Order: sequence, then structure tokens, then C-alpha cells
Amino acid sequence: MAEETATEKKTNPIIPFLRIPEKYPDDAAYLWGMQCGSCKAKFLGARLACGKCGETDKLSEIKFGDEGEIYVFSVVHQTVPGLEVPYVGAIIDLDDGVSVRANVYGLDPLKPDASWFGKRVKMFTEVTAQDREGNDVVAAKFKVL
Ligand SMILES: [Zn+2]
Repeated sequence: MAEETATEKKTNPIIPFLRIPEKYPDDAAYLWGMQCGSCKAKFLGARLACGKCGETDKLSEIKFGDEGEIYVFSVVHQTVPGLEVPYVGAIIDLDDGVSVRANVYGLDPLKPDASWFGKRVKMFTEVTAQDREGNDVVAAKFKVL
């Protein structure tokens, strides 16, 4: 027999390395990845082997912090239908030593400035869409500190 939970609405991450806790949004979503126990290299998301030293047995899951700085950015003026432009897309170096591609809010995309390089940012998440089954889809974004 079908359980009631089979039709329960879920909250799913838009990217596989974003973890949505059971009590989201009371508990904050976070980026996660793997760390190599041999060489200490860190990677976003799941890994079967260390990309730096090749280790396969000593990878363990780690939770990344939500702050970092803009490494490089681009102002996007054209994109797929349904997304508002212009916006600021960036590669963000997290303080934990990995980089993530995300949109940054709190900057005027019509006035890009070299001072944005290295600017401190903090991650936040929000429901940005519903999938075909009606589940909420949560995206990770960054805002200027
Ligand atoms: Zn390694």
C-alpha cells in the first residue's frame, strides 16, 4: 500500500553538493564535499578518489563554511528564458579552500568594478523553483558582506 509520505513535498538541492537538512529552513543548508585523509585536499561533492594524490580509501565527507571571497566575476546579460538579467556570476573561493560557481547579490551589475575582486561574500539559500513533481528546488547564492 502507498504510504502518505510518497506524495509528501520534498526540498531538493539544485546542485548535488548542496545539502538540505531535514529541518530546512530552520537548519541552514550547506555545501559539502570530501577531504582526502592522506594529502588533506578538499573537493566539492562526492569523490571516489582524491584528484591530487589518487587515494581511494581515506576520503571522508566534510561540511564547508558559508563564507569566502570573489575570485573572478562576470556580468551576465543574456541567459535562458525566465531568468532575470543582468546578474553577477562569480567563482568564489571559500575560506575552506574550495571554489564554487554562484551568483552574487548586493552588487550593481550595471556598474561592474575591479574592487569586486576579493570582495567578501556569504552564502544563502532560497527556493527558486518547483520541479515537475511539485518539490521545492533550493539554490545556493551569495551576498556581499
Ligand atoms: Zn589526496
